[in-house]
Amino acid sequence: MQQGSNSSSPSTSSIPTVKLLINGQLLESKSEQWRSIINPATQKVIARVPFATPEEMQLAVASAKQAFSTWRKTAIGARARIFLKYQQLIRENMQELAAILTAEQGKTLADAEGDIFRGLEVVEHAANIGSLQMGELASNVASGVDTYSINQPLGVCAGITPFNFPAMIPLWMFPMAIACGNTFILKPSEQDPMVTMRLAELAIQAGIPAGVLNVVHGGEEIVNAICDHPDIKAVSFVGSTRVGTHVYKRATLAGKRAQCMMGAKNHAIVLPDANKEQTLNNLAGAAFGAAGQRCMALSVVIMVGEAQAWIPELLDKARSLQVNAGVEPNTDIGPVISSQAKARVTGLIEQGVREGAQLVLDGRNPQVAGYEEGNFVGPTVFTGVQAGMRIYEEEIFGPVLCVMHADSLQEAIAIINANPNGNGTALFTQSGAAARTFEEDIDVGQIGINVPIPVPVPLFSFTGSRASKLGDLGPYGKQVIAFYTQTKTITARWFDDSTTSGKVNTTINL
Ligand code: NAD
Repeated sequence: MQQGSNSSSPSTSSIPTVKLLINGQLLESKSEQWRSIINPATQKVIARVPFATPEEMQLAVASAKQAFSTWRKTAIGARARIFLKYQQLIRENMQELAAILTAEQGKTLADAEGDIFRGLEVVEHAANIGSLQMGELASNVASGVDTYSINQPLGVCAGITPFNFPAMIPLWMFPMAIACGNTFILKPSEQDPMVTMRLAELAIQAGIPAGVLNVVHGGEEIVNAICDHPDIKAVSFVGSTRVGTHVYKRATLAGKRAQCMMGAKNHAIVLPDANKEQTLNNLAGAAFGAAGQRCMALSVVIMVGEAQAWIPELLDKARSLQVNAGVEPNTDIGPVISSQAKARVTGLIEQGVREGAQLVLDGRNPQVAGYEEGNFVGPTVFTGVQAGMRIYEEEIFGPVLCVMHADSLQEAIAIINANPNGNGTALFTQSGAAARTFEEDIDVGQIGINVPIPVPVPLFSFTGSRASKLGDLGPYGKQVIAFYTQTKTITARWFDDSTTSGKVNTTINL
């Protein structure tokens, strides 16, 4: 049984329940296994989420399979217009969505709106599906012969999402898959599924037909059922490297396409010629914002040469950040997702001290008036961090920044390339030549040049290298059209009756 779950029936309680979405209907699960959704700032139970039964999972896949037979042939314009309507509904409901997100996830309201907005951009992109899904044509590949390609939907696709972006990441997945003509099974994080459900309801309101989008809840068992189900053709996963590697192996073993975007340890390099004020502001925002629970958080900074002297000012920036509940005005850092996550982060801080790193800013147990029970960790900074220490080797996923030192850009690049993760990185400099060397030699997916969290807009695809990604095609952008479609090539000759020779051709020439 998963953390936070228990087996009491939800009907005995006044706490709201999260529904399943199957065949266009919001259904109360018949599950005996439920989990509490807890506000991380207050510890209040705000809802309960079921772990869907195997029968409910079967029903969801059957309804998606059935819906595919008609949805795959729906006209491009009809599909596109649903996403035009959907983006409008998300905008109109932005504040309500952000309030739900903050209540269950903890991030500030402004950050919650950012989470939704980055997903909304993918919905806008999905509305362009007509031009995105077009095939290609070459005429006269041989005399009178044309070859063209069509990109057809695969069938039932599935998405498994993490807790840290419960709006953006589901929106990376189902709008593009559905716009391509697929049907979809979404399995949100069991830690914060409420905003995802509200987004699914708005999608239905926008006109997505019954069975085209289905949502099931749960943890390991339902994820394994998704990987194994013979009627699911492709699986998109975003989450930790441990679970993503398991999903990739299990889904591909079952013959599915899989794309897994996974864990990170993102490094920034600061060269001494960088704009100091902007660099330090960017570092503090990217290391501590969202309580460090971003897959693109900057959790290691390598100060090159004299840039080391900037550390006291970096600490001043970190100290100036307000730790408070996400609903409170002027909050910079909300709580981490759970008391277990807080214990994990503080345990890693203790380990860092034991291993000899210098704890120059200790954010453990900040006092937050009115929210004494919240899972708060304040900005924390270690200097003297070395490879091999646990605080360096593990993704802490809290507001903890590890500071390292290098004598040159090349040495800093070598440190980053020796780390197993390759999700995001950033270089702060005013030198174009240094920036060019960096982007050419660094083995990381998302690269920022004076941009701390370079998540690409949906004209491009999210990417990653080494332990941060499995599968060759990333979410959204052009790559995801290839992921969610099967390309067929057609080579065609139309005979003109008046010139037909009647001679048998036994060569392979066209
Ligand atoms: P997680 O891997 O614990 O959970 C992700 C999903 O997997 C959830 O839906 C969960 O229910 C399911 N799951 C959990 N344990 C499972 C198991 N044993 N077997 C099968 N399924 C299981 O990740 P999380 O803690 O929710 O999210 C944080 C992680 O996600 C971090 O590592 C972060 O870097 C990563 N992340 C990566 C990206 C990216 O694009 N690379 C984006 C966001 C988050």
